[in-house]
Amino acid sequence: MNRVEKLYRCGDCPVCSFMGDLVLLEAIGTRALFVFCPCCGCTFKQPPDGVEEVTAPGEYAPDGFSVPSREQVRVAIDRGWAPRFLAVFDAEWKERLGPGFSDASSLGAEGR
Ligand SMILES: [Zn+2]
Repeated sequence: MNRVEKLYRCGDCPVCSFMGDLVLLEAIGTRALFVFCPCCGCTFKQPPDGVEEVTAPGEYAPDGFSVPSREQVRVAIDRGWAPRFLAVFDAEWKERLGPGFSDASSLGAEGR
């Protein structure tokens, strides 16, 4: 598989406000979508209206998570999450997304 992986943002983190982008991610295994703020590490099962329920990525993605596939991005659009292109996924983003991130398809290494 040789695809450019793109990250999408779904609004701002309610904890960090303007500082944090909520990054759309996909759980490995369940393929569940959720949003994650790399700035503070908060995770939400959907883009929140305010600070409702704050968890760590392991809550939604016990087996790790990855950049969402194009079809999952379409699912997010259908849900009204309004994903907007944020950045091309690269090694720096992998670092920002933390140890739960797993991306076997392009960068090889699995998170701890
Ligand atoms: Zn945040």
